[in-house]
Amino acid sequence: MTSVDTTIRRITNGQAPGEVCTVDLREAPWEFDTGVPSYGPGSSMFDVVPPGSPLQGEISVEYRTATPDELDRRIRAARETLGDRVLMLGHFYQRDEVVQYADYVGDSFQLAVKAKASPEAEAIVFCGVHFMAETADLLTRPEQAVILPNLAAGCSMADMADIDSVEAAWAQLSEVYGDMDAVDETGRVPVIPVTYMNSAADLKGFCGRHGGIVCTSSNATTVLEWAFARGRRVLFFPDQHLGRNTAKAMGVPLERMPLWNPRKPFGGVDREVLDDARVILWNGFCSVHKRFTVGQIESARAQYPDVHVIVHPECPMPVVDAADSYGSTDFIVKAIEAAPAGSTFAIGTEINLVQRLAQQYPQHTIFCLDSVVCPCSTMYRIHPGYIAWALEALVGSAQRPSEVLNRITVPAHVAEPARLALERMLAAKPGPVSV
Ligand code: SF4
Repeated sequence: MTSVDTTIRRITNGQAPGEVCTVDLREAPWEFDTGVPSYGPGSSMFDVVPPGSPLQGEISVEYRTATPDELDRRIRAARETLGDRVLMLGHFYQRDEVVQYADYVGDSFQLAVKAKASPEAEAIVFCGVHFMAETADLLTRPEQAVILPNLAAGCSMADMADIDSVEAAWAQLSEVYGDMDAVDETGRVPVIPVTYMNSAADLKGFCGRHGGIVCTSSNATTVLEWAFARGRRVLFFPDQHLGRNTAKAMGVPLERMPLWNPRKPFGGVDREVLDDARVILWNGFCSVHKRFTVGQIESARAQYPDVHVIVHPECPMPVVDAADSYGSTDFIVKAIEAAPAGSTFAIGTEINLVQRLAQQYPQHTIFCLDSVVCPCSTMYRIHPGYIAWALEALVGSAQRPSEVLNRITVPAHVAEPARLALERMLAAKPGPVSV
């Protein structure tokens, strides 16, 4: 099994030239949190951070220089003092040094549901990325504070669609399709906007305002069925791969799924293609899942003829097509749980989850498809130093009153329609597929 440490060793030894991960992974994330904004080392390091992204201020030197043992002692002491007043949530893709403190570990949707189901917690320390903390804030009581320990923990995929670009695309689509609220003889409007959970709250709000809906990687088919029942087309953002893989499995032909480039007029798509479109895919992707290739699957099969290859639907379509099965992180976890002892799995998703599954299920052989692992750069930004900093501020001291740091708050004018789009998702039920 390849670990992040192994990867760093391979890079240091010159065995992995040209990889996007660098030995900088060894550095603490605060080395990257000042100066020029960047996602830092890892899969997203060459993605462009949009202007206006939240920046993390410098934390005091005591947290930056503390040893792992000292941080561990301080985090546990603060948690002991705070008790049930604080709930800590950890995403599947977090590294183990962080996940060990979480009360609950899951995917972004499971964590949001857990936050909603914990009204007694005064503060929720969200060890995930920015859009997840926003979603937790949307679903929790106004008095509850959702804290993101490092504000630089964004998501490069979520950042590939911003509200201005989506508004501009909508205006151009309305030039092509006419009145976007006009219902045809089948009772459908021209376009329904669908946003992946991995998007900023204002995009969820956009969907709420325009009759649209949110989806996750678990329910994307059900959500597209919902949208096809209400619209002749879908505008799907920000992840082209989830949209394409899901719609293709539902029978939508590839030629009816044009790719919308927000930097070009009318997305760079011909008028006739837009006329015939069924799903307009935003040109966004996850840099972690983009790394998986068909060649990796072929290598895994050559080495382990009985291997079962499971990949995440954020992977490119040829990879999903070549895999034995694909699904959300929850799907992957359940497939491994249900397998007979002695099974072999090659997994196409973030390394931290794969490593944890390999440890939890020693009766199986489980490895990551990508032999040179690059973790999610943005998840990597949550470090125990930031957790200790946020928790000790909540505890306070004789010299310093208790303080909520890095609170994530979605403004009311965004929150209301964003909740509507989330509620539509929660109410959507599987139905007959109609493409
Ligand atoms: S794994 Fe990809 S989609 Fe998930 S948080 Fe990281 S960059 Fe975003």
